[in-house]
Amino acid sequence: MSQKFVVLDRDGTLIEHVHYLSDPKLVTFKPDLIPALTTLSKKGFMFGVVTNQSVIGRALASQEEVGAVNQLIVDFLEQNDINISFLYVCPHVPEDYCKCRKPEIGLGLRAISDFNLSPPFSYVIGDQESDILFGKNLGCTPIQIQGKAKRSHLAEYYAQSLSDAADWILGK
Ligand SMILES: [Zn+2]
Repeated sequence: MSQKFVVLDRDGTLIEHVHYLSDPKLVTFKPDLIPALTTLSKKGFMFGVVTNQSVIGRALASQEEVGAVNQLIVDFLEQNDINISFLYVCPHVPEDYCKCRKPEIGLGLRAISDFNLSPPFSYVIGDQESDILFGKNLGCTPIQIQGKAKRSHLAEYYAQSLSDAADWILGK
């Protein structure tokens, strides 16, 4: 059966953006993360994370360090009864021209194949233009979280926060 998902970006969306994040101690969760995802979870949405981590390709962080940060995030969410079905990482730099670095949709296709993600019933939430393009190209509804990046004209909604995004999804 096809599933409705909310696919989340990591840096600047689930957690505060930290330049070259490689230390779990520097993780700060968005203040409304748990209430926002809880509301969506109660309405039957499943969750996944897709994140570009060129810090690995640039050798600024190891796969293990990035993995430790990701594990901390997944553990924190699970402690709060939020289950993350997948957390996919692109370790490449843009010059690699891989198929998994957002806005390329390789990791989205993997979610369709692994978890029956249904694009027409799913949303992608992120702060960067690459997240919005990724969502749109995958056939999901893209929502941009306001942050340091400039506003994307391709986003279906420009949300002040995760809670604002969740309210918009549930109001549709
Ligand atoms: Zn990649």
